[in-house]
Amino acid sequence: MGRSSHPARRATCAALLAAAVWLAAGGCGGPKRLPAVVTSPRPRPGVEAPVDAAPAPATVAELPAHPVAPPIPWLEPAEPLRLLGVGLLEDRPELELRAEGAAWVRDADSGHTLVALEAGEPLTCRLAGDEVAWEAGAESGRVRSVALQPVDPGFLVSAPGGSYRGEFLVIATPHGHGLTLVNNVELEDYLKGVVPWEIGRHDATKFAALCAQAVAARTYTVARIGSRQARGFDLFATVMDQVYKGATGEDARCNEAIAATAPLVLRHAGREIEAYYSACCGGSSCAVSEVWPKPDLPYLRQAADKSSRGGNAWCSGSPYYNWRETWSAKALERLLQRTLPDYVDYMAQGGGAWGGVSYTPSRGGSAGNPGALREIAIKHRTPSGRVSELAIVMESGTYHVRGDRVRWVLTPAGGNPAILRSALFELEVVRDDERLSEISVRGRGFGHGIGLCQTGALGMAAAGQSWRDILAHYYPGATLDAVTRQER
Ligand SMILES: [Zn+2]
Repeated sequence: MGRSSHPARRATCAALLAAAVWLAAGGCGGPKRLPAVVTSPRPRPGVEAPVDAAPAPATVAELPAHPVAPPIPWLEPAEPLRLLGVGLLEDRPELELRAEGAAWVRDADSGHTLVALEAGEPLTCRLAGDEVAWEAGAESGRVRSVALQPVDPGFLVSAPGGSYRGEFLVIATPHGHGLTLVNNVELEDYLKGVVPWEIGRHDATKFAALCAQAVAARTYTVARIGSRQARGFDLFATVMDQVYKGATGEDARCNEAIAATAPLVLRHAGREIEAYYSACCGGSSCAVSEVWPKPDLPYLRQAADKSSRGGNAWCSGSPYYNWRETWSAKALERLLQRTLPDYVDYMAQGGGAWGGVSYTPSRGGSAGNPGALREIAIKHRTPSGRVSELAIVMESGTYHVRGDRVRWVLTPAGGNPAILRSALFELEVVRDDERLSEISVRGRGFGHGIGLCQTGALGMAAAGQSWRDILAHYYPGATLDAVTRQER
């Protein structure tokens, strides 16, 4: 179980598995609302639990003192992958958490119940050295990690920023100065908080695209589990991985697409593929090495995003299919004076492993002080037409901007979006006599352009293609298979 090697994760996984077992045994047919809680006995921390705990009763007053699950070894080997930890917040001085129903506060390392809470009663956590100081009602204590677990898994937990399925785990931020809040959540519930934010909300004619997105997101998730382990969770809840907003803003049709495709993931050569996707490929998807200094993968290819019978690109209806950014020479010069030194620092720190120098100084020039803008030109393109090297001549020397870093150097004048929409662009340079006066980028697409093109998938769905057709188009050679726990 390499993906859950953190002891706190193991303990909370075991507890949730136990909950699932009694639910499967007929304890509950699904989410339910508990009656109002009247009294709340406070079990003493640190006392071992009886292991024959009954299914969760209706009120806190009736709870077994320590409903910690026994290990279920017979369930482990065949248990499908379900739980993952999503990092919601890091380095917070304090956290106030609640559950919408009765809940247990546990020492997540040992699984011991620290206290039982009524619906809505707050659990407050603060950093204390490298431990978490917790406070709930009249009880308080210090442990290495704290879990807030609803008695009934149908209830949500809430933190500043939203409500979530599953449970919370609080740990000291590794190498930080505050607390990390992790949402331990089942894979399929996690996807409900991802799919509508990644592809949007759409009508029934686009259902196949939602299904394809669900499979791509499920695959990406499984392939990335454990990749953020040093931070105490599996995935970021942002564009660093996938945008996840918990139970806030779920979409019924997206949920339907997730259910319709569960538990399928895309595999190649026996393991989950790197299921990259982006908003709009601009008419031509690309191979990994066109954008990042990483090896290519056989199922992520450069290809025209259109039917084999020709016609318009599947994503040609996207508002980002064509776009334009314009800077005056003065505005671009000011921008480059900020972004070019950052680029050279990034490359010097090993951020980009492209070959070739990133800066050639002129006499007396230094990378950190670019000076005036003299010239800008595209030097190389990739097979899909993306810019792979941009030469920017400044007073201090020439900056050789490579791969997707061109998007970080030529940032839009208004700051929105934060980086250039794509690397698939033409440069238009207007001169006044010999001097630069205005520079425009005329581009196509939004995002890196690798793998599934979201607006292309929507176009394919609207044209009557199935979600299997969509996945075969964007991930050629990958096969569909049920997700299982992977040893990594
Ligand atoms: Zn496309």
